[in-house]
Amino acid sequence: MASRVIPVEPFDLVIFGGTGDLARRKILPALYRRFVAGQFGADTRLIGAARTAMDSAAWRDLIAEALDEFTTGAGDGATREAFLAMLSYVTLDARGEEGWTALSGQMRDDRIRAFYFSVAPALFGDLAERLHLHGLIDETARIVVEKPFGHDLDSARALNRTLAQHFCEHQIYRIDHYLGKETVQNLMAIRFGNVLFEPLWNSQYVDHIQITVAETVGIGGRAEYYNHAGAMRDMVQNHLMQLLCLIAMEPPARFAPDPVRDEKLKVIRALDPVAPGDVVRGQYGGDGTQPDFRTQAGHGDSTTESFIALKAQISNWRWAGTPFYLRTGKRLRARTSEIAVVFKDAPHSIFGAEAGRHRNILTIRLQPNEGIELGVTIKEPGPGGMRLIDVPLDMTFAEALGPEEADFPDAYERLIMDVIRGNQTLFMRGDEVEAAWAWTDPIIAVWQAEQEPPLPYDTGSAGPEEALMLMHRDGRRWREIKP
Ligand code: NAD
Repeated sequence: MASRVIPVEPFDLVIFGGTGDLARRKILPALYRRFVAGQFGADTRLIGAARTAMDSAAWRDLIAEALDEFTTGAGDGATREAFLAMLSYVTLDARGEEGWTALSGQMRDDRIRAFYFSVAPALFGDLAERLHLHGLIDETARIVVEKPFGHDLDSARALNRTLAQHFCEHQIYRIDHYLGKETVQNLMAIRFGNVLFEPLWNSQYVDHIQITVAETVGIGGRAEYYNHAGAMRDMVQNHLMQLLCLIAMEPPARFAPDPVRDEKLKVIRALDPVAPGDVVRGQYGGDGTQPDFRTQAGHGDSTTESFIALKAQISNWRWAGTPFYLRTGKRLRARTSEIAVVFKDAPHSIFGAEAGRHRNILTIRLQPNEGIELGVTIKEPGPGGMRLIDVPLDMTFAEALGPEEADFPDAYERLIMDVIRGNQTLFMRGDEVEAAWAWTDPIIAVWQAEQEPPLPYDTGSAGPEEALMLMHRDGRRWREIKP
């Protein structure tokens, strides 16, 4: 089975912040891989625009280095040269006049034009304003904005208002790269493409749901940003919330941007406020070789959390009574992201108490080894009576589809191509982002009022002990964090 690549229409893409970390590590490598796959032709312009003074040749060298580092083995020498030939650069100040006329000169009228705002959010408004002043916004124009989208509800609203002055909602692509992951989309295929799961997908059959996004790295080079944000703003308000929405939402009438986003929004609005006792915050300590959070953050008294675990409840007919436990943190035991749908026990065991307790668990693994696994109970083979064991029905895509099909595009590849295709299904709508902040703000407000420091936890652990208690007290337990 060879992958089908449907070429997109010709486009000009401006990457504001083209010399930055995200552009070098993600955006340009993703574009290169799509070019290698044949998704767009050499008649495309990829224009870097940033404050750093350099010419196009220097930017090409910078990006060539990035391709060497992040796209090992992709494409041959000629393809690489053809890609680099598409790149040009404009030295430009988002807050000044420099560079804008030169940028205008590079844009073609008969192309889709996309503008990637890969700069600090404080510059989004300036960019939108200058794009407008220089007449660069035509009907095809679209912008991609990166996280963080606001810092709280008020700032997200202000940002939405600023962008709305020059762009319609259908032109704004708020990126959450988790939605570009193959498995996350497969979650929708599994739920809405099969009859098997849907009758069980409710509080009558699902005991609880766990969403874990665990990282082994600390805050590293992002210390200043992270110390302001913390795990709640950096991860829960966006990535974990999006995963929760996809698990919990009602079937949309069509797999199209607004039907999908309407259903996600309903989930966020049905979330109950979280009681302070249902949240555990943690902060990692040092481990002899690596410094603790506060040292890395450069604030000896930082009360920012690098770990959070919480219990969320959705008040609607489908989910009332089924808790959603969310947890994310840095410097944990392993780098792993998964969603586990834990089904209830069979109503009565005909095999007696000695057969033990067995449960079906549907695990959606986002990393590593993207895939989906359904734990089912079977008889242990052999003559020794009726002993039950749990075995996984493994839908790891590499095995089911063969290595070529399972060589997934990176989330950024899919999402950038969706921007050119004009498909917003996997991007967050303005009202969704605001609703997510409206849910997280009161949780953060309690911490700010109390000024309680987060609980310490060891590097390489599963977070503070209290996070385990969050589930133990409900007679449940977290799944192990393992590679
Ligand atoms: P960076 O600091 O590495 O790069 C910033 C870029 O903005 C540089 O190219 C710089 O020249 C340019 N710039 C700064 N001031 C400018 C001005 N006045 N006019 C024009 N250009 C200007 O930042 P980054 O890590 O690439 O992040 C870019 C955006 O993406 C940020 O909003 C960040 O929050 C977001 N983001 C980054 C990552 C990541 O992994 N790096 C992940 C998620 C989101």
